[in-house]
Amino acid sequence: MPRKLAAGNWKMNGMAASLAEIDALVKAHPSPACEVLICPPATLIAQMAWKVGKNPIALGGQDCHSEASGAHTGDISAPMLADAGASYVIVGHSERRADHRETDVDVAAKARAAHAAGLTAVICVGETEAQRDAGETLAIIGAQLAGSLPESATPANSVVAYEPVWAIGTGRTPTLEQIGEVHGFLRAELAKRFEGTAADMRLLYGGSVKPSNAAEIFAVADVDGALVGGASLKADDFGPIVAAL
Ligand code: PEP
Repeated sequence: MPRKLAAGNWKMNGMAASLAEIDALVKAHPSPACEVLICPPATLIAQMAWKVGKNPIALGGQDCHSEASGAHTGDISAPMLADAGASYVIVGHSERRADHRETDVDVAAKARAAHAAGLTAVICVGETEAQRDAGETLAIIGAQLAGSLPESATPANSVVAYEPVWAIGTGRTPTLEQIGEVHGFLRAELAKRFEGTAADMRLLYGGSVKPSNAAEIFAVADVDGALVGGASLKADDFGPIVAAL
């Protein structure tokens, strides 16, 4: 079984003063049972890497360009993230898919670039509320998975995060049965591609995970951790989620 993963996505939040949360997290959880990942804004990765030091916290970017370098003003490449101290990068977050019109093809190209730079890609998939209401959840998730995982993906260099769009930042979560259904489906789809090793690819649930619901979500079959937004910003919230894994 792969080591479980508690991943925090700080989104466009965090200043240098926020680095104090790392001290608080390390103090409260010096040797977590699970792997801990923080994806701060890119402006903080290098400072956070220094702050983390030898403590067991991995760092990640929240997006990367599909090219390694070039004339792409404002963008950040996967090798740049690695250079700053990241070992992971989130790709295909629904906010990127919506705000920047990223398609599955774009997401696969970004994941491919992440792999080439030696980063683990956290590849996000998830249905909208309208798609769920229309009974299209598994079809949408299956298509996103097929389109967003590049041929370079392996269970070692990729993590899949199931994040229902309607659960992100809303305080609403699917039922445990609904989470289990999608994670079981993802595992079965991965098994078609990664014969014998699909169980090694970590499947995260994301969407309004908080200290009060983390343990019950983590008990669902095929949930290997969480991608946490709002509740990852403060050590007092993220710490108990880390401890629940
Ligand atoms: C996210 O943005 O990946 C996320 C899951 O956000 P939240 O935990 O705030 O719903």
